[in-house]
Amino acid sequence: MSVGEATVAAAPDGVKLAAQAAALELTGVTKRYGEVLAVDDVDLQIAPGEFFAMLGPSGCGKSTTLRAMAGFESLDAGKIYLGGVDVTDDPPFRRDVNLVFQDYALFPHLNLRDNVAFSLKIKRVGRRERHRRADEMLERVALPGLGDRRIKEVSGGQQQRVALARALINQPKVLLLDEPLGALDLKLRKTMQLELKAIQRDAGISFVYVTHDQEEALAMADRIAVMSAGKTLQIAPPKEIYDFPADRFVADFIGESSFLTGAPETGGDGDLVRFRLRSGERILARPGLAPRADSVAMVRPEHLELVAKDSEPATPAESLNRIDATVTELEYGGSDVHYFLTTAGGEHLMSRMPASQEMFTPGTAVIACFPVEKTVLVQAGAGSAGQQQPTTDQQPKKGSRA
Ligand code: ADP
Repeated sequence: MSVGEATVAAAPDGVKLAAQAAALELTGVTKRYGEVLAVDDVDLQIAPGEFFAMLGPSGCGKSTTLRAMAGFESLDAGKIYLGGVDVTDDPPFRRDVNLVFQDYALFPHLNLRDNVAFSLKIKRVGRRERHRRADEMLERVALPGLGDRRIKEVSGGQQQRVALARALINQPKVLLLDEPLGALDLKLRKTMQLELKAIQRDAGISFVYVTHDQEEALAMADRIAVMSAGKTLQIAPPKEIYDFPADRFVADFIGESSFLTGAPETGGDGDLVRFRLRSGERILARPGLAPRADSVAMVRPEHLELVAKDSEPATPAESLNRIDATVTELEYGGSDVHYFLTTAGGEHLMSRMPASQEMFTPGTAVIACFPVEKTVLVQAGAGSAGQQQPTTDQQPKKGSRA
């Protein structure tokens, strides 16, 4: 059963009934700090065993939502259910969740084993059993035999794993992680991403993973909630968000994209929409999620191929959009070349092509070709994300991914 099917009516005693309740569910969750609406009417459901990422720019409300899940924030409105049970008014220690902080919050004076076993001690589990379970947990996070080491004697990546082991030892239904790899350098982050994903799969518990790093969310999550200004803009699997972003903000935040402004025309070609650009040129696009009058056409740089003005692309012409453009800049990246272009309508495009192909120097007039299938209409603006969108005339930042 999909997560979306797991909802059901609330029973009188506040317990939600479901064939298989969501591991965690938020309905209408709202949190204000004075004038700031930090979380604005958020609904979401997380399935048992799901890796769920909350992604968005700094200040969009991710951590507040996570803290609310853990019970560290009182809500202004809304409900939180764990395994179908209303825990909205329960304090943190009554919730079957654990929160892993970015700074790990480990005890420097204790060794790794005692850090991991700490909550068992609070629960008055006997010393031998505590140690047995802690050592088992350390093994699971790839730190076998290191129980006697002190925190300051292990690396950042190892400390991260200790924090994870400490959270997992309680076998919570849901583990909440707030930028858990934020303090690590890039290379270690990449390794830890794989390890974390393997540990999650192995433990079979739901992870809610807060990050502002879109690559991290794409690489790890089963589904991603993209947030902006306290709202969730889209909740979907990574590929669906990448291929069919709900709006321009999401398209821009996840991956790189070029946008062409224009107007949809009546009459299309089957499921495709005919779209008239500012230059007067016409392209065909997939309707995407929001075929609205205020939509823009989006194309990812890897789908935009450049050909010399007098040559024909290899792909059959009927499945390609073709528009005139001029190369303004290029960046050589070893395996590929990143081109920046301006169209006849004054808009900016990005193209990424294998470096093995013919290179185009700045000033060259080219034809930008992109598959009709990969041209998607997205909602241009409005809504909460409006102020954070780049304007149409803004040149995409070189090398920027956000
Ligand atoms: P994110 O995790 O996405 O960076 P946060 O959830 O931390 O965002 O913050 C969302 C908004 O709420 C921000 O505008 C932030 O300044 C505000 N905020 C967060 N915590 C507090 C607090 N304890 N007091 C006042 N404002 C807060």
